[in-house]
Amino acid sequence: MAPQRYNRTKAVALAVVGAAATANAFQAKGVFGGQRVATPRSLTRSAAHLDMKFKVAVVGGGPSGACAAEIFAQYPDVETVIIERKMDNAKPCGGAIPLCMVDEFKLPEKLIDRKVRKMKMISPTNREVDIGTTLKPDEYIGMVRREILDGYLRSRAIEYGATPINGLVTKIDVPQGHNGRYKIHLQNYEGAQKVGTKEEMEVDLIIGADGANSRVAKAMDAGDYNYAIAFQERVRVNPEQMKFYEELAEMYVGDDVSPDFYGWVFPKYDHVAVGTGTVVNRPAIMEYQKAMRERAGAKIEGGTIIKIEAHPIPEHYRPRRVVGRMVLVGDAAGYVTKCSGEGIYFAAKSGRMAAEEIVAVMKANGGKLPTEAQIKDTYIKKYDQAYKPTYIVLDLLQRIFYSNNAAREAFVEMCESEYVQKVTFDSYLYKRVQGNNPVEDIKLLFNTVGSLFRGAALAPPDKPYSNPVESLKRL
Ligand SMILES: Cc1cc2nc3c(=O)[nH]c(=O)nc-3n(C[C@H](O)[C@H](O)[C@H](O)COP(=O)(O)OP(=O)(O)OC[C@H]3O[C@@H](n4cnc5c(N)ncnc54)[C@H](O)[C@@H]3O)c2cc1C
Repeated sequence: MAPQRYNRTKAVALAVVGAAATANAFQAKGVFGGQRVATPRSLTRSAAHLDMKFKVAVVGGGPSGACAAEIFAQYPDVETVIIERKMDNAKPCGGAIPLCMVDEFKLPEKLIDRKVRKMKMISPTNREVDIGTTLKPDEYIGMVRREILDGYLRSRAIEYGATPINGLVTKIDVPQGHNGRYKIHLQNYEGAQKVGTKEEMEVDLIIGADGANSRVAKAMDAGDYNYAIAFQERVRVNPEQMKFYEELAEMYVGDDVSPDFYGWVFPKYDHVAVGTGTVVNRPAIMEYQKAMRERAGAKIEGGTIIKIEAHPIPEHYRPRRVVGRMVLVGDAAGYVTKCSGEGIYFAAKSGRMAAEEIVAVMKANGGKLPTEAQIKDTYIKKYDQAYKPTYIVLDLLQRIFYSNNAAREAFVEMCESEYVQKVTFDSYLYKRVQGNNPVEDIKLLFNTVGSLFRGAALAPPDKPYSNPVESLKRL
């Protein structure tokens, strides 16, 4: 099978039209039109359907898995199981979600711990720029605890009829040519079992929603992606310090906190999350984290570290996202944006979109299973139409503005522009760019050049680091 390879020439060309394409970001409707069609309780299954169902296994119960399972569970011709190794999993994550997700995924307000309305960008020379001034009173970035969000989405899928299995998928046997059923091997931890019971299950279609270390991706030979390692400490600070971060998130840039990403302080329910990430020098992650604590300084001083966590963040799509009837979504597919490291919305969206498109194909096929070509022609095509320009633009921005201290200094200076703030927030909060203004675009171009010169004059040069093995391995 021909792998879907990333076409660099096309990518650059697309980047030019990227902003415009993002402006009209495709609003996927799918079979349920992105809307709930009925309340869970109103969904009953006709007994006539029971013996002719196809079985779909969703592996992973994070946002991508839960949102996929919820859609399959509403389709009477499918029996849906959702396999999650740890039902109370608290995925290491900053937990920032865009406003549009609250509406689109009908998230109750109680899931949002904090509504961030102000952001500070802090440059390598510690210049602070407040952003968020363009936000309307009802606009915010939501801060969630992942154990709460994931638990809620998973319970909703279960209410719709998905069968939960508390199990770790260890292996998948793929039938010759993907003809026939897939055999999933798992350790079932049902009840309070510490040691799982070995089980096998045959299914017709698999959704790989099992995150960055995906077993499904391995079984389908989806190919590798490069990844950042992200490290985060949950710090319980005193009430006065917490008050400071009540509605405020901070982003720090500088080669001290990361040679190619940013460091953050995000407010959570009753503490702050302090973290950073890197691809090019992963072995030095603890040094960067130490620098983050130092940069935040008195604002978190004396705080108690209540949790330490680390996890990979994918850098780009996997070479193959559909093989046979095995389909990747969320982090397993590689749907995290560069620059911001955002993945929750894209996970939920891709899970929902993949399931909606597969169900639509089955309906059009008279209930038959979809082929690989049909899945690629619907889910993959629509997802890329909607979001590939966003990935390309943010990748370019990261390459330009996180590459050295001069560029980082310029980046923070540019964030003072009301126009930059508006475009940035609109594209983040609503996944579209609003009010593009050609005159402002040209002004911005000149200001960028000016900022780059000033940045070069002000910012300290980056310290060299030696990590030829990892940095050269970058895909
Ligand atoms: C430190 C850090 C900070 C981040 N901050 C943000 C942020 O602020 N905002 C944002 O939008 N994104 C953020 N991200 C990215 C975000 O966390 C991911 O993009 C998102 O969680 C992807 O969701 P998912 O459902 O695809 O995968 P995951 O959330 O990783 O869920 C996968 C699930 O599968 C389960 N699983 C894995 N293997 C198996 C198996 N073999 N069998 C059964 N179950 C299995 C896991 O237990 C897990 O519950 C951050 C990531 C990191 C690491």
